[in-house]
Amino acid sequence: MSDPEPIVIAIDGPSASGKSTNSKIIAARLGYVYVDTGAMYRTLAWHAQQSGIEVTNAESVEALCRDWPAELVRRGDSIWLEVDGYFPEQEIRSAEVSAVVSHVAQVPFVREWMKERQRSCVQFGNLVMEGRDITSNIFPDTPHKFYLDASAEVRQARRDADGVEENLAARDQRDSTRRAAPLKVVEDATVINNSGESPEETSARIIAMVQGG
Ligand code: C5P
Repeated sequence: MSDPEPIVIAIDGPSASGKSTNSKIIAARLGYVYVDTGAMYRTLAWHAQQSGIEVTNAESVEALCRDWPAELVRRGDSIWLEVDGYFPEQEIRSAEVSAVVSHVAQVPFVREWMKERQRSCVQFGNLVMEGRDITSNIFPDTPHKFYLDASAEVRQARRDADGVEENLAARDQRDSTRRAAPLKVVEDATVINNSGESPEETSARIIAMVQGG
């Protein structure tokens, strides 16, 4: 008998909508592998900055990505992109990377490159994958699709509490209006506004829906 298809829980939403916090809880509770696709785009944005290229120039970003020897690596129960065994875990959370990542992420070649690798993550088993286009573009056929949201005030307050100075509205606007795989709510996604909810409550709701079939 062949192995059953891996289960994928796809979670999209704007910045600071609670995707990472909830995805990590859900993955831990269910024993699934956690994939933060935003970290992958951030790793490329960091690499672009290190290389000194103009990050708003799509051709330069595409050329850089074509020659980028990054590999998917499993560390514990999470998947990351590493170059020469290095994952810039701290660096990718900087204000500098946050300011440029959505430019890098709108380059069509970059999105195709990421899509191939993100889809191949099923090699690691059942997944909780979070991002901006997981429900719409990476795993549109999974029955487990969620769109997290929270009010703009709550989201900005969460980011301020992280200690990273950033105008979330500008990044969200770029992510929602780009031509290639923009952030959007797909028809069969369950939308959860968690402004007044704890991560325990939100993740328990999602787990209940996944297990309820
Ligand atoms: O989730 P996070 O805020 O770390 O994502 C950083 C950026 O990466 C987003 O603002 C977006 O530009 C890009 N991204 C994307 N598609 C994804 C995940 C992230 O375009 N699936």
